[in-house]
Amino acid sequence: MPENCIFCKIVKGEIPSQKVWEDENFLAFLDINPVQQGHVLLIPKAHSDYIFSMDDKQYAEILNRAKALSEPIRKATGAKRIGLGVEGLSVPHVHIHIIPVNNINDIDPCKGKKASQEELAKIADKIRKEIAAAKL
Ligand SMILES: [Zn+2]
Repeated sequence: MPENCIFCKIVKGEIPSQKVWEDENFLAFLDINPVQQGHVLLIPKAHSDYIFSMDDKQYAEILNRAKALSEPIRKATGAKRIGLGVEGLSVPHVHIHIIPVNNINDIDPCKGKKASQEELAKIADKIRKEIAAAKL
């Protein structure tokens, strides 16, 4: 794994993050520059640099995790739907953007704005509650 990978550092707890869910292989946490409130990043804990280089099993697993997380995130944010985005250009560690959307242009990652720790903590708490209620 690249030594300066920011997401590997988040996995190891070397960089703080608002985690909303994790299991043995995957971690979901809030994007610090959310495009919409409740914008979550879902990543594999093991460094992998391109989603389409993941083996079929891991690829299916990460998409299934995104599916499971979508409804609790939608409920916590009150959004119409949840959109997914994958580009991998900003950080070369596989991540799926899970973004609450109400309009078609709500998913543009270039529109991300830095959120305060307070805002992030508040929405993370709501999402964690919905995830706990959904028993993921
Ligand atoms: Zn990494």
